[in-house]
Amino acid sequence: MSEQSLDADLCVSDCERCPALAESRSRIVNGTGPTDADLVFVGEAPGANEDEQGEPFVGRSGTVLDDALRDAGLARADVRITNCVRCRPPDNRDPHSDELDNCRGYLAEELARIDPELVVTLGKVPSQHLLDRSVAVTNEAGEVFDARVGDAAVRLLVCLHPAATLYDRSQADAFEETIRTAAELAGLTDGGAGGQSSLGDY
Ligand code: URA
Repeated sequence: MSEQSLDADLCVSDCERCPALAESRSRIVNGTGPTDADLVFVGEAPGANEDEQGEPFVGRSGTVLDDALRDAGLARADVRITNCVRCRPPDNRDPHSDELDNCRGYLAEELARIDPELVVTLGKVPSQHLLDRSVAVTNEAGEVFDARVGDAAVRLLVCLHPAATLYDRSQADAFEETIRTAAELAGLTDGGAGGQSSLGDY
């Protein structure tokens, strides 16, 4: 992948590597958030809302993620949010392996340039893609692994996909707990001396 593939804002402005996705997409959905973020969330691929609005996780899953971030004392603007695949797969199907491979270089370059403290994979597809093995997300959620994505060596925390909490409320606590862990591991809390949890004591 050439240095020119991603612009200064880590955006892909044109790509035809997956002809079917290039044909069906409304737009390429790039990552959002600081280009020096300590914490990067990686989802699977844009859905219909994201394809329409051009931003990752803006539908119901995004609301779940925003709420969990807020509970952990963070705002969406504090973190980077991106996807393994930047174009919406039609009918919300999972991205095919060749589509994941075609887009991998963009994600690798994004992670290498941001060099975050922690990468959080949201769901099975990004967890398996970045760990390069089968992952039982429900069992492994909250566990940390070392991974390599292109030239980027990353510390990776496996997390449920936010949508899992919409279909199974029992997953909500696990999801929120993992987001709190992510904030701590990325050094974005004040070590328990302040922030939301201690405000709750008053
Ligand atoms: N699900 C994802 O994996 N990514 C998005 O951007 C939205 C929903």
